[in-house]
Amino acid sequence: MKFGTKTIHAGIKADPSTGAIMTPIFQTSTYVQAAPGDHKGYEYSRTHNPTRDALQANLATLENGKHALCFSSGMAAIDTVIRSFAPNDEVISTNDLYGGSYRIFTKVHQLNSGINFKFIPMQDLSSIEEAITPKTKLIWVETPTNPLMNIIDIKGIVDIAKKHNIKVAVDNTFASPFLQRPLELGADIVIHSITKYIAGHSDVIMGAVILNDDSWAEKLAFLQNSCGAVPGPQDCFLTLRGIKTLHLRMKAHCENGSKIAQFLVNHPKVENVYWPGLESHPNHQIAKDQMDDFGGMLSFTLKDDAIEKAFELMSSLKIFSLAESLGGVESLCGHPASMTHASIPKEEREKAGLRDTLIRLSVGIEDADDLIEDLSVALDKV
Ligand SMILES: *Cc1c(COP(=O)(O)O)cnc(C)c1O
Repeated sequence: MKFGTKTIHAGIKADPSTGAIMTPIFQTSTYVQAAPGDHKGYEYSRTHNPTRDALQANLATLENGKHALCFSSGMAAIDTVIRSFAPNDEVISTNDLYGGSYRIFTKVHQLNSGINFKFIPMQDLSSIEEAITPKTKLIWVETPTNPLMNIIDIKGIVDIAKKHNIKVAVDNTFASPFLQRPLELGADIVIHSITKYIAGHSDVIMGAVILNDDSWAEKLAFLQNSCGAVPGPQDCFLTLRGIKTLHLRMKAHCENGSKIAQFLVNHPKVENVYWPGLESHPNHQIAKDQMDDFGGMLSFTLKDDAIEKAFELMSSLKIFSLAESLGGVESLCGHPASMTHASIPKEEREKAGLRDTLIRLSVGIEDADDLIEDLSVALDKV
């Protein structure tokens, strides 16, 4: 099946008891057994739930993986992946990453689990080999990176990691499986904040992991059931419903992203535009090789580098709402330094090239002309 067919059909079967074409919301905590141990594969909804199972089967297919597990949030998915490692293990992570990932790595796991984290820029593959030690067990990649839209060469990382018997995890939230499927490039595990593009309608918080390795999947399922950060059936239903238009939404996000990037590049008040589809983007070629299109996330800075100007611009926008998050049908703007990335210290942010005046856009699927008009009017004011 091609991607657009998978979004609608993968993992979905008509309900055997009624023929309902849509997967029912199995709003139940437990399941009746005929005799102790004699059940239909379901005992308790922390462990298994049919609505969640359908979603997990669908997600596995979209990423071309064997196993998928859903969690109550993207952070719960990330937490569970890190919990599958042991004290004194080392993780090498890209230094330009989601603020919440940086926070859980440094302030939760480094402190409480004794797992050590190193943060390095990964656009240059040579610095990775130098950072590897015999304790390194995992390389954590986010690409496109947030918020600078750097592109990291997944295959290049996988080649290095394989030589050292290290696993590769890719947070694929920004790309979604429509644009990029890391398992096909050799990565071991994919992580999603489902909250963003996959659910796509800003009405669900959820996370997922997708992988091929049977024993790692079993360990993660054990942790999922033991720690209990599972999503409810209603949210699984909403996500299944959202996924049915993932391919259509992503096409529209990419088209609008491209139009807005071009508009901003040509605007006299704009200094830098960070969008991997621009030929001037430093990693444009890698983006072309590993992604099917370039997405609707972009960042930019103004020539006038005063933070007040960036703030004024964001509050002048009418269609772009100032809000955390991304990947919904509606356009959002955000200020990473004070919002999504406030938990990364200023020196670390600046080392990664994230200036306090950077504005991030999650371009929605409204009419592009209206979005451009909105930006144009706001830019005239600053
Ligand atoms: C939002 C986000 C997360 C965290 O996901 P939640 O669903 O908010 O817990 C992780 N990684 C990236 C790249 C994100 O954008």
